[in-house]
Amino acid sequence: MKKKISNKKRLKNNILRRFFEMLNNSSIYLKYLVYIRFFLLNYNMEKKQDVVIIGGGLAGLTAAIHLSKKGLKVILIEKSEYPRHKVCGEYISNEVLPYLLSLDIDISPSNSQQISSFEFTTQNGKIARTKLPLGGFGISRYMLDNILYKKALSNGCIILKDTVIAISFENDGFSVTTPNQIINSKLVLGAFGKRSNIDQFLTRNFIAKKSPWLAVKAHYSGNVPKDQVSLHNFSGGYCGVSKVENGIINICYLADYATFKKYKNIEEYQKNVLYKNLQLKSVFEKSTLLFERPLTISQISFDKKRPVESHILMIGDAAGLIHPMCGNGMAMAIHSAKIASELVLKYHWGTITSRNILEKKYTIEWKKHFGKRLIMGRILASALTNKAMTNIFVRLIASMPSLLSIIIKQTHGKPIAVN
Ligand SMILES: Cc1cc2nc3c(=O)[nH]c(=O)nc-3n(C[C@H](O)[C@H](O)[C@H](O)COP(=O)(O)OP(=O)(O)OC[C@H]3O[C@@H](n4cnc5c(N)ncnc54)[C@H](O)[C@@H]3O)c2cc1C
Repeated sequence: MKKKISNKKRLKNNILRRFFEMLNNSSIYLKYLVYIRFFLLNYNMEKKQDVVIIGGGLAGLTAAIHLSKKGLKVILIEKSEYPRHKVCGEYISNEVLPYLLSLDIDISPSNSQQISSFEFTTQNGKIARTKLPLGGFGISRYMLDNILYKKALSNGCIILKDTVIAISFENDGFSVTTPNQIINSKLVLGAFGKRSNIDQFLTRNFIAKKSPWLAVKAHYSGNVPKDQVSLHNFSGGYCGVSKVENGIINICYLADYATFKKYKNIEEYQKNVLYKNLQLKSVFEKSTLLFERPLTISQISFDKKRPVESHILMIGDAAGLIHPMCGNGMAMAIHSAKIASELVLKYHWGTITSRNILEKKYTIEWKKHFGKRLIMGRILASALTNKAMTNIFVRLIASMPSLLSIIIKQTHGKPIAVN
């Protein structure tokens, strides 16, 4: 009998040992699943957030900082690590400075580059220059997004590295799903940029259409005027050149895919197409690439989007992307975060009494601030893809430089008012 019990025990112990061995050795995946399930249960029970923000670029991080500063419980979900490089011209208008300061965001230690003048060049050697009415600064997204990320963390925001795959709205609240968790909240801000899996999930209109634009960006060392942002026109696109922090040059261009795909690689495309603008050729030839290879993104769409969809308030590029030629998307992302945050606070505190009013007010405010700028950006961009129009345009602004600053004013805002 004694022997029998000890055999049973041994068997049981063996099974348990095998199970833990399997969990330990055989698969990290299984271990992962057990931990995730445990985490999921706890998470769902504990976290009912005031606001969930999807996407941690400029718009999402700014809103997270604003709302957490006012005491709201905020979770931001971002699929990438910080810091990281992003395809962007990295020239940002000074209109954002008063607002950033009001959120205690100080970019001065970043060594960013003050920029006060603008230059436009064409393939046939025409050049127009003007002072920028408000001016701006050059700062890499690697640096700027990371400053905002650290500020959001120090304000007490929870920032999860995860990818949102679904959002549902029921009983006046949201459930936001990632592969690892489900988070419930009263409000969701959509800050997932110009093109995301969430656009597909929401079957937004623009996502089904193919877009002919792609963009390429890299950092270089070299010598270009430090206080100037240049826009060089070439067949099928534009290339922005300006300095960011520590004297680094950012070169970022938008190109039409149809021409791009005729060439074997980026280098060949640049040599055959971009170098036809001799100003641009000289910039490339005198600069040294600092990245292993340039970053690229495709399917960039400038189509209209709605600022509110499925009860989600969209901010930044998720609400609408201005043509990069106007160089103002970053300021718009930050400004739209401010508009959304102020209305969200009013709703949270009960001054705005219903979700319906919140959504209507946000739509009105968004259109009031950005509607005309986007239209102007679209008109300008399509006019300047036409060679003859570009030549007329440059001749006009060469003889009347004040015209260029009028156009810049139409696509930029005033310094963001802070209450
Ligand atoms: C070629 C080019 C040049 C430009 N040059 C300039 C310029 O010089 N000056 C200027 O002011 N603007 C410029 N812009 C525009 C500017 O880059 C954008 O307007 C700005 O980045 C918008 O910020 P955002 O926060 O809305 O989006 P983003 O900065 O793109 O952030 C969106 C974030 O959402 C995350 N995300 C997406 N889906 C999910 C998901 N499902 N789950 C979790 N996270 C998700 C992404 O990882 C990303 O970090 C340029 C744009 C382009 C294309």
